[in-house]
Amino acid sequence: MKHHTTLPPWLKPSARTDILHLAAKIRPAIRTELTVPVRQEVVRIWMRHLGWYIAIDRDGFLVVARSSTLARKILAIDRDDSSHTFRLGRELGYPTCCCRAAASVGEQNLDSWALALSQRSFIGRFRLIDPIHYREGNALVSHIPCSPFCQASLQMAEATLAALRKTNPPLPIFSSPSPRDFNFGRQLQSELPLLYARRRRR
Ligand SMILES: [Zn+2]
Repeated sequence: MKHHTTLPPWLKPSARTDILHLAAKIRPAIRTELTVPVRQEVVRIWMRHLGWYIAIDRDGFLVVARSSTLARKILAIDRDDSSHTFRLGRELGYPTCCCRAAASVGEQNLDSWALALSQRSFIGRFRLIDPIHYREGNALVSHIPCSPFCQASLQMAEATLAALRKTNPPLPIFSSPSPRDFNFGRQLQSELPLLYARRRRR
């Protein structure tokens, strides 16, 4: 069996955070978008190696979950035209408070809300929930926290950090016995101090 230590090119860098959540059983399912057209079979095999199931739509949106029923259900919610922000967020395992906030802001305004939130200060441990570097895959949460003081998001970020720090093997994704192959987790971990140093210098 081939071991996956880095993300395939058809996944966005931000999927790193989501994959970590899934691997560490912090969230039951994740949703991302394919960066390039790729055969479903390629994605399916890659995810099956990790014990996961996929659902992909024709626009390249991808849901990965530990059951195929759940993956299909979430993709259906996502494609549903009715208001589904709260429900989708809950199915993806985001904190209730943050799903409620996202629903009240509205799906169309999520980007500007994220931007507004990024200008606020995340203090102390709450720097862990700052989603500012999510796009590059350097975040511990993959949702927009309802506030810079969201406890539920902090718990999720701390669980993610703890999963990253576990060694030998740190996560199921790193099932290879060679520590040299644990690039994925190490890379994120080694970038974290940099990330927070950058924030502090402001
Ligand atoms: Zn919250």
